[in-house]
Amino acid sequence: MAKVLVTGGAGFLGSHLCDALVSTGNAVLCVDSLVTGSKENIDHLLSLPNFEFMQHDVTLPLSAEAEQIYNLACPASPIHYQSDPVQTMKTSVQGAINMLDLAKRTGARFFQASTSEVYGDPEEHPQDESYWGRVNPIGTRACYNEGKRCAETLCFDYHRQHGTEIKVVRIFNTYGPRMRPNDGRVVSNFIFQALHNHPITIYGDGMQTRSFCYVDDLMAGFLKMMNSPSDFTGPVNLGNPGEYAMLELAEKVISLTHSKSKVIFTSLPADDPRRRRPDITLAKAKLAWEPKICLDDGLRETIDYLRKVVYE
Ligand code: NAD
Ligand code: UDP
Repeated sequence: MAKVLVTGGAGFLGSHLCDALVSTGNAVLCVDSLVTGSKENIDHLLSLPNFEFMQHDVTLPLSAEAEQIYNLACPASPIHYQSDPVQTMKTSVQGAINMLDLAKRTGARFFQASTSEVYGDPEEHPQDESYWGRVNPIGTRACYNEGKRCAETLCFDYHRQHGTEIKVVRIFNTYGPRMRPNDGRVVSNFIFQALHNHPITIYGDGMQTRSFCYVDDLMAGFLKMMNSPSDFTGPVNLGNPGEYAMLELAEKVISLTHSKSKVIFTSLPADDPRRRRPDITLAKAKLAWEPKICLDDGLRETIDYLRKVVYE
C-alpha cells in the first residue's frame, strides 16, 4: 500500500484517479480547494479507511507524508480558468513549487498533469512531444497555458537540481461522467444543451478540431506513467488520436441523445486553437498505452451520467 497524495482530487479527473488508487489498496490523501471540484465526486470514498480529504489551496505550503504525488489542482475549463486568471497562474506555478518542495522533502515521485495547451495554436499536426508550441503569452488563455508551461519547467528544474523523480503527462481533451453541466467545456455543454432541446452553441464556424479521450482510458495512462521506470520523465502525450470538428461533435451528440436541438453559431473565443491531435507514438512505445474507447461509446456513458444529473 503506497501513500498517495492527489491534488485536485475532488475534480473531474482527480476523483476518477482517487477511485482507481483507492480500489487498488493505496492510502489516498485528496487535497482540493473545491473551487471547481465538488465533494459529491468523492462522497462514496469519504467513509473508506484508506481515503482522506483535506480542503486546502495548493498555493499555500502543505505538510504531509507521501510516496507519490499526483498534481492535478487547476481549473481546466476556459470559462473557469479565465474567471480569476491571477489565481489560475498562481495555482499552476506556486502550486507546483509547493508540491515539488513536498516531493523533495519526502522523496515522493511527482506526477504533473500538464496539457496539450502547451502546444497553443500549433503549426505542426499532429503534435508530438518535441514540438515547442505556439502560445500567445499575453492572451486570455495564457494564465492557463503559460502557467502549465512554467509548471513543466519547474518539474524539470527540480529533477535536474534536486534529483526529484518526475512524470509529466500532456493531457488532450478528456471527457466522461462527473463533468459538471456548467463546466463550460464543449462535450458537457453540447450534451446538456441537447438534453434540454436547447440550441447547440458552436463557437466560430465549427471547423476547429479536437481529439477526445474517454476518462477511463486516460486513467489507465496515468497509472502506467506513474509506475513506469524512473528514467522516463516524459513529457508524454496522453490522448485519443481520433480528430473531430466541433460541428461533427454537435451532430453526434444530437443523434445520440435523439434531441430536437439545432446548432447556432456564436463568436470564436480569442486564441482558440484551430487543430488538435496527439501523436501518441511515445506513449505506445514507453507505456504500452493506447486508448480503447471510441467516441460514440464514451459519449453514451457521459450522456447517461448527465441525463441522471439533469432529471434526478
Ligand atoms: P476540474 O476543474 O474538474 O478539476 C480541477 C480540480 O482542482 C478541482 O477539484 C478544483 O477544485 C481543484 N483546484 C483548483 N485550484 C486549486 C487550488 N489552488 N488548490 C487546490 N485545489 C484546486 O478539471 P479536470 O478536468 O479534472 O482537470 C484536472 C487537471 O488535469 C488540471 O490540472 C487540468 O489542467 C488537467 N487537464 C485536464 C484536461 C481535460 O480535458 N480534462 C486536459 C488537459 C489537462
Ligand atoms: N466550443 C464550442 N461550443 C461550446 C464550448 C466550446 O464550440 O459550447 C469549442 C471551443 O471554442 C473549442 C472547442 O469547442 O474550439 C473545445 O473547447 P473546450 O473549452 O472544451 O476545450 P479547449 O478549447 O480548452 O480545448
